[in-house]
Amino acid sequence: MSKSLLMIPGPVEVAPEVLEAFCVAPPSHVAPNVIESFGKCLESMRHVWKADATSQPFIVSGSGTTAMEMAVTNLVDPDDPVVVVGTGYFSDRMADMLRRRGARVATVDAPIGQVPNPDDIRKSVDTRMPKVVFATHVDTSTGVRIDPKIVCEIADRVDALTVFDGVCSTAAERFEMAEWGADIFLTASQKAIGLPPGLALLVASNRALRVREAIEHAPPKSLDFEEWLPIMRAYESRAPSYFATPATNLILALEVALDGVLAYGIDATVERHEAAASALRSAWSHLEIELVPEEGLAANTLSALRYPKGHDASILKAMHNRGVVVAGGLHPDIKDAYFRVGHMGYTVERIDWLEKTVRALGQSLGRSEDVVESALEPLKELE
Ligand SMILES: *Cc1c(COP(=O)(O)O)cnc(C)c1O
Repeated sequence: MSKSLLMIPGPVEVAPEVLEAFCVAPPSHVAPNVIESFGKCLESMRHVWKADATSQPFIVSGSGTTAMEMAVTNLVDPDDPVVVVGTGYFSDRMADMLRRRGARVATVDAPIGQVPNPDDIRKSVDTRMPKVVFATHVDTSTGVRIDPKIVCEIADRVDALTVFDGVCSTAAERFEMAEWGADIFLTASQKAIGLPPGLALLVASNRALRVREAIEHAPPKSLDFEEWLPIMRAYESRAPSYFATPATNLILALEVALDGVLAYGIDATVERHEAAASALRSAWSHLEIELVPEEGLAANTLSALRYPKGHDASILKAMHNRGVVVAGGLHPDIKDAYFRVGHMGYTVERIDWLEKTVRALGQSLGRSEDVVESALEPLKELE
């Protein structure tokens, strides 16, 4: 049976060595190799996140949404003022979680395909004096990327903390946690890190840990930094411990995935994503497909593409028939007008897969063989 190629913005195809590490009989959470692997993962995360030695990585079972909820409930008390940088579906989710927590939420919005203007963010932050500013690094619903550095600078002027949802960016887009002074950068295992789904991954600054200590309404027990801190510290010092069973197979796979990123280099990994994304954007242009994000705002981890005139979601089926799975629209306002192609993690090492995707799309749109060949040309420049 030949399997379809999964080119959605998560879960993504995983590297053979990652799959191999994952596919073992479930080990105990206190098995020596799991303890060693867990400890190494925590150490590696600081490097991949570009975080300093005082920051604290957390590895918890769950998904990106779990990591978002951890950030919200550990930093924010009811009635705290917060600002959300609005980019689409996932920043809306963050705002909803914050409202449920009882925070006083101000959202700075932008038209679809754009990101909020820094002046508007600054104005909102200066008037609201928020405790925390929340932003989505890459909003997977519209394919836009914000500039986290500017958000950190704006927050810093009023001593606000910053939380970045990096579920569609960590290990693929440039992020300098220590240099920019970000307080939480969070992700999930099934996106650019390239594992099966099941882990919430987050690094918190020392300042974020101190803010948790001062929280009045304790977070849900399973999400509480204070419950997890002794566990993370034990694993990092290579000691056994238990609070809630970790996803042991995923820990083994995570070690291999993070080793892969660090062996190639985090900066080089980011550059590889940039090069692949740039070649793909050129391919889309040859196929006469327009992007949802405006010029200069498109992320390197996925492409949000408008259906060309005369086409609709039926091309997703046509692509599937050619062995490639891509994703439909997610943002409710333009759901039926666009689709999404993921290109992150191991996928961008496989130029043959990127070619297969471009070819399947070109053929599904009924483009001529000449046009499809010209669309494939930019991919030839990739290593
Ligand atoms: C996928 C995604 C999420 C949600 O992650 P889950 O693992 O599905 O819970 C949140 N934010 C962004 C930006 C995402 O891409």
